[in-house]
Amino acid sequence: MLSYRHAFHAGNHADVLKHLIEIAVLDYLGQKDKPYWYIDTHAGAGGYALHEGYAAKNAEYLSGIARLWERSDLPPAVAAYVDVVREMNPDGELRFYPGSPWCAAAVMPQSDKLRLFELHPTDFQLLEQNFGGQPRRTQLQQANGFEGIKAILPPPPRRGLVLIDPPYEDKRDYQHVVTALKEGLKRFATGIYAVWYPCLQRAEMKELPKELKKLPAKSWLRAELHVQAPSADGFGMYGSGMFLLNPPWTLPATLKEVLPYLVEQLGQDAKASFILETGGDL
Ligand code: SAM
Repeated sequence: MLSYRHAFHAGNHADVLKHLIEIAVLDYLGQKDKPYWYIDTHAGAGGYALHEGYAAKNAEYLSGIARLWERSDLPPAVAAYVDVVREMNPDGELRFYPGSPWCAAAVMPQSDKLRLFELHPTDFQLLEQNFGGQPRRTQLQQANGFEGIKAILPPPPRRGLVLIDPPYEDKRDYQHVVTALKEGLKRFATGIYAVWYPCLQRAEMKELPKELKKLPAKSWLRAELHVQAPSADGFGMYGSGMFLLNPPWTLPATLKEVLPYLVEQLGQDAKASFILETGGDL
């Protein structure tokens, strides 16, 4: 079952939260003069044209990145993210949006490596078009990312970020995330892991952060951006979250500044809000 296409959602509020945190973590890793790897279990196409095809259909970016595009009061971590999107749109018009691999490649030192998994044949082909020309730096696999990471953890430099961003169309993805993290921590206990998840009124979603808090990592961070109140009929995504294991110690302070700003800019009703929680030795 592979009907999910990320292009429909490119640049929406969930991408803003995810990519902003991804860039903040990679910027942190890049501060030390030591190599690291970026591993993306669900890479998508790599980059998206916003005015064409699926992305133009619902134009979800209009309530995401587009709301930040013209602002001159961006907090530094939001500005670092918007700068990456600007690099893709050098003439100043918002027409292209970077996926998670593109965000990573934009901020990582050239010597650091990317390992990207994507299962959908069409998105994998697009990913190859976007990244196939950098074989020394980037390896792509059309494979199940939950399984694929087992073979590459720990990465040789023993530093890195693993981004896990499944579609959750298949309810089993919730359990796959927990299992992949358990396995990952056994192989690479000091790695930084970031999991994206949708905020839905579904039992599996409510359980996920509880399950993730129980994992044997030294520390964790949960950040959720709720752009609207949960709907009365119980359907629909009212926001999204990022759960990190072993996050940078600097991230809580960054998000204390960023999340209220995102609520103000991306909130769709008066109930827009955020959650920021940490645990372990953070
Ligand atoms: N991480 C991307 C980004 O932020 O730009 C978006 C990824 S999208 C939410 C999820 C992607 O995972 C889809 O492109 C889908 O085809 C792919 N996919 C679904 N199941 C997968 C699996 N088991 N392993 C690898 N890719 C998978």
